[in-house]
Amino acid sequence: MELREIPIEGYERVLQCHDGPSGLQAIIAIHDTTSGPALGGLRMWPYTTRHHALRDALRLARGMTYQSAVAETGFGGGKAVVLGDAQRDKTTCLLRAMGRCVDRLDGQYITAEDVGTSVEDMLVVRQETPYVVGLPRAMGSSGDPAPFTALGVFLGLRTCVEWALHTTDLRGIRVAVQGCGNVASHLCKHLHQAGARLIVTDVVPAKAQRLAQQYGARLVAPEEMYALPCEVYAPCALGGTLNDHTIPRLQCQIVAGSANNQCLWEEHGDHLRQRGIVYAPDFVMNAGGLLNVAMELTPAGYNEARVLERVRHIATTVRTVLATAAHEGISTHRAAIRLAEQKLATVRQAKVYGPAGSETPGEVSVGGARVRHRRRSTPASASTQRRQLQYSEDVLRQSEGEHGLGGEEEGMRAFPNFGNIRDNATAFHLAMDMIEHGHVAWGRAVLARLREHLQTTHDIKSVQWILPDVEAALQRFSCDEQHEMR
Ligand code: NAD
Repeated sequence: MELREIPIEGYERVLQCHDGPSGLQAIIAIHDTTSGPALGGLRMWPYTTRHHALRDALRLARGMTYQSAVAETGFGGGKAVVLGDAQRDKTTCLLRAMGRCVDRLDGQYITAEDVGTSVEDMLVVRQETPYVVGLPRAMGSSGDPAPFTALGVFLGLRTCVEWALHTTDLRGIRVAVQGCGNVASHLCKHLHQAGARLIVTDVVPAKAQRLAQQYGARLVAPEEMYALPCEVYAPCALGGTLNDHTIPRLQCQIVAGSANNQCLWEEHGDHLRQRGIVYAPDFVMNAGGLLNVAMELTPAGYNEARVLERVRHIATTVRTVLATAAHEGISTHRAAIRLAEQKLATVRQAKVYGPAGSETPGEVSVGGARVRHRRRSTPASASTQRRQLQYSEDVLRQSEGEHGLGGEEEGMRAFPNFGNIRDNATAFHLAMDMIEHGHVAWGRAVLARLREHLQTTHDIKSVQWILPDVEAALQRFSCDEQHEMR
């Protein structure tokens, strides 16, 4: 089993995990542990490339930092993604290998279920590491987080209806639910009981059919979802569904769902605001499951009544965010990020993990094991944090070919310098992303220049960690080119 660090600006640790015998290919991203160890689910998805998986892990981990900060769980933000089809590729061997990877981080990252993984899968992971939560209730653990996530989403959705439509009565309100998985199943139950009219879709038709039958919902094809006339669009599948292509087509008044990272970029929150659509920020809405698993780690142990109390508070937080956004004339997405950053800054100032400059570790108990985590001796200032977040946003944006990076010359000008290991790693990932987006010549030119730099640098770590990938990529893409020419 091999764990390789990928230095990424704005992230505390990012690791590429590989295990030959089980075929495991995974990424663990630890974004921020200011408040405590990074807590976030384990996703399994058939990503088309390692770079898509990396990008997803980075976005999800950062979202977890915000989610934890706003919900005040006392944990940091992290996420793990496994490359593979959960239906086809998930094996006991693979899950156990993933457990060993998590274990190697000594509690810096604590895992749980997410898209493509279940409570049963967490039991397998638990065979290799104590740093896993969301295990069956019978084991004294917190169980499936999805019902709690769904309850928070339902209450937040009702707050949005009250805000936008001036009623708390959901009878007759049309809610279009995208994705009919764990969270959506529970959400549909609440909405049905409240008298809402449901419209459902899933890329797996049988899942949508099941909910349609159960709740008398209207069934539509996945591509019909965005242009449906309805009061509420509830994204409960994957992220990035609020983007340049979908927002102009929306015919809803409210967007309120469980999916992580619904806005592809921050400005998509602005676009929703310009269209007069009330958007309930995802990481505020979907914190119910996180609150449930985090309760398991408190010194007093799991207490469902206490979890429910905290999940109900999500409605109040949503109201605060809606009111702040309206008052400040900004999008709800930006208002929620601001709230998260304020809370993180407060944690840093309060120095809750010991006096300033001290190395006194904080501790939580996970599966009977004590997890020690050192508070950063020099915490990043709020402005540094913002700069780092902005930087990673820019890096990702550039990798999407946005920011006017259409032409190769322009791309070359906008490219960061080679230099330290972070710059070099960023350069490599950007080049690979640009190749994926069709800018092959530009990407290859950058890789060639990066190889030249790495062949002469004295930075041994860059040479050890990055040069082999650069050489392999150059070989692969020059082969592709020869193939194309033939
Ligand atoms: P799940 O895997 O059980 O359900 C996701 C469903 O979405 C699947 O049925 C899948 O087939 C469907 N889907 C995927 N792409 C689709 C598309 N383009 N159109 C329609 N359907 C599509 O996952 P879940 O646990 O229900 O989580 C749903 C979302 O909520 C995810 O984004 C997850 O990260 C987020 N979330 C979940 C929890 C939780 O407690 N499970 C907590 C916080 C956030």
